[in-house]
Amino acid sequence: MNNVIAGNAQVKMGTQNNLGDQREITRRKLLVIDDEEDICELISEIAELAGYETDSISLLNSVDDLSVLEAFDVLALDLSMPGLDGIEILHYMEHLNLKPQLVLMTGFEQSVLEGAKKLADQLQIPVLGTLSKPFQVQNVKSLLMQPFTVPAKNKSQLRSGQANDFSVQEIERALVRNEFIPHFQPQIDLATGQVHGVEALVRWHHDRGIVMPDNFLPLIESNKLILPLTLSVIEQTMAQMERWQNHGLVDLQVSINLSAAYLDELNLASLMPQLLQKYPVTAEMITFEITERIALDGSNQSCLDALTRLRLKGFFLSLDDFGTGYSSLAQLNQLPFNEIKIDKGFVMHALSSPISQTIVQSSISLAKQLGVRCIAEGVETKEIESFLIESGCDVAQGYLYSPSLPSDDFILWAKEYLDKL
Ligand code: C2E
Ligand code: CA
Ligand code: CA
Repeated sequence: MNNVIAGNAQVKMGTQNNLGDQREITRRKLLVIDDEEDICELISEIAELAGYETDSISLLNSVDDLSVLEAFDVLALDLSMPGLDGIEILHYMEHLNLKPQLVLMTGFEQSVLEGAKKLADQLQIPVLGTLSKPFQVQNVKSLLMQPFTVPAKNKSQLRSGQANDFSVQEIERALVRNEFIPHFQPQIDLATGQVHGVEALVRWHHDRGIVMPDNFLPLIESNKLILPLTLSVIEQTMAQMERWQNHGLVDLQVSINLSAAYLDELNLASLMPQLLQKYPVTAEMITFEITERIALDGSNQSCLDALTRLRLKGFFLSLDDFGTGYSSLAQLNQLPFNEIKIDKGFVMHALSSPISQTIVQSSISLAKQLGVRCIAEGVETKEIESFLIESGCDVAQGYLYSPSLPSDDFILWAKEYLDKL
């Protein structure tokens, strides 16, 4: 590491090569601002391992020091510091039109982070994530390896609650150009530690960067474009399953998300058997995930019929975001589901919120009573993993193991993970 001085601030500079070869990440630059020098060093080291160039500032004397921010893609910012505090810095950043992706950090309670995040949203400074101190190295790494969100072009759209500014034409073009690519997040069998499978999560490889699904799915779902998108994700995923098998990664379960919109028109129950002929994949290797709120809405009979037909063809069905819906639990039993996927909102807070803990435990015992598999998403720490194992959960998915990865990176991840078992 070299030491350089910028303005009044102490700056350390480091360069190291990219570990993960994440295609979307090309030598991003990260600045840490934190009065605790050991935190600056720790985050810099993790960031360098994740392929970043890093600098850090431990003493921010004046607003002028902030001008260095222009050269950075990511700012890891401690909210409580002597001199300028994090909230003041956010206001100055907006004033100076400095908009790196933010990682907000504090040793104070979660609500402080949430308040700062709301402020950043209002000021339209993109937030990559938040970290409560003390944090886990793996969490920092996963956060920094995430794709960047593409900020919206104009303020009025953000204020009205729409996080995107894409047109239907732009999305149609992207579909033709095959810019919607599934990434894959590993799922771990908690009894054996083996890789149970992956969830396919679509990303838009846009000229301006990687766009996350929340920023384009609502528009796609409100147009019939969800039909070609879903088919494209399914077929690309099946093609990757064949590649994984060629790399010795056999017996992997794959979960694919389905939107309820136009599900009947998609006619998957008829299309899937043709695809099964094309790839070395069987129906039992594929689980379709459906959001509870939609799936249990009995008014959508044609959607329920489409799901039942898929089950009859041998595919598995999973009730996604379990615990967030409004419908009565009794309805669960009337539908052909094989898996309950507990929403990450409950899993992440299972050790800090008694209500979340109760919801997680009762979902697991409900799954047991119904004889279906139980999977927890949003598993970020070893402590939560241990709690899930004690509670009898079958499968876990979350940043503790890995964020979603492009297929090639998933192969590397799986080999490394299995080597360590
Ligand atoms: P989801 O199905 O509930 O997927 C889980 C989301 O949680 C993903 O967000 C994933 O990246 C994120 N996640 C995974 N582990 C962790 C963790 O440990 N901590 C935290 N904080 N988050 C974690 P993502 O990829 O942004 O996807 C958002 C939603 O978009 C998905 O939510 C799903 O409903 C939808 N989606 C994604 N891909 C597709 C697709 O191909 N088709 C359809 N119809 N919907 C999709
Ligand atoms: Ca899902
Ligand atoms: Ca979910």
